[in-house]
Amino acid sequence: MLALLLMAQGQQWPQHSMDRPRPPVVDPGPARSSVPPPKDAIVLFDGSNLSQWRAADSSAAKWTVRDGYVEVKPGTGTMQTARGFGDVQLHIEWATPAEVKGESQERGNSGIFLMTMYELQVLDSYQNDTYPDGQAGAIYGENPPLVNATRPPGQWQEYDIVFRRPRFKADGSLEKPARMTVFLNGVLIQDNFELVGPTANKARPPYKAHADKLPLTLQDHGNPVRYRNIWVRELE
Ligand code: MG
Repeated sequence: MLALLLMAQGQQWPQHSMDRPRPPVVDPGPARSSVPPPKDAIVLFDGSNLSQWRAADSSAAKWTVRDGYVEVKPGTGTMQTARGFGDVQLHIEWATPAEVKGESQERGNSGIFLMTMYELQVLDSYQNDTYPDGQAGAIYGENPPLVNATRPPGQWQEYDIVFRRPRFKADGSLEKPARMTVFLNGVLIQDNFELVGPTANKARPPYKAHADKLPLTLQDHGNPVRYRNIWVRELE
């Protein structure tokens, strides 16, 4: 009722609302094999080593590399790129555990944080209900995906992301918000969405001026999610 009232008043859904309609399910078709990066891409992970990555405290990245992928080692913390990025085209493939454990946010949770603070959610959202602004493909806590184009757990999935960083004025105030366009498995799920600020759980922190380039971070949310074939093209 409250949600309907808010909608009638032209306001947004409350954050993490379970009343919000679920994005329609779209079958994206079978998993494809990895396609090699374009020639001008910066390869961040080619399946062999974590030389481009660090732990949050700048020590060596601690996740497990095996059979061409890297897997979250629960409890070791996030992993971030050694170098910083601003505007990028990012390709990244991921798979949630084939063995299904947990419900909602506890099933196959990880995340891709542009500039360390703007999260595109990674989750097993195949027949796993959760709040729509927290399912796979959501800009976490801000915007659900347009559709749910996830594959079953254990299968490889692909994000293709265009991220435009926020712009700040000389006095530190916001000039232009960050924007994100995302395809999941070839299906458009975020269409040039304007972020309202850094993403957060049960909070909507405002923008705060930051550097033009910051690392790309992958989240350890306690689940052994896998990643492979990670590359970026810098845009300016
Ligand atoms: Mg997450």
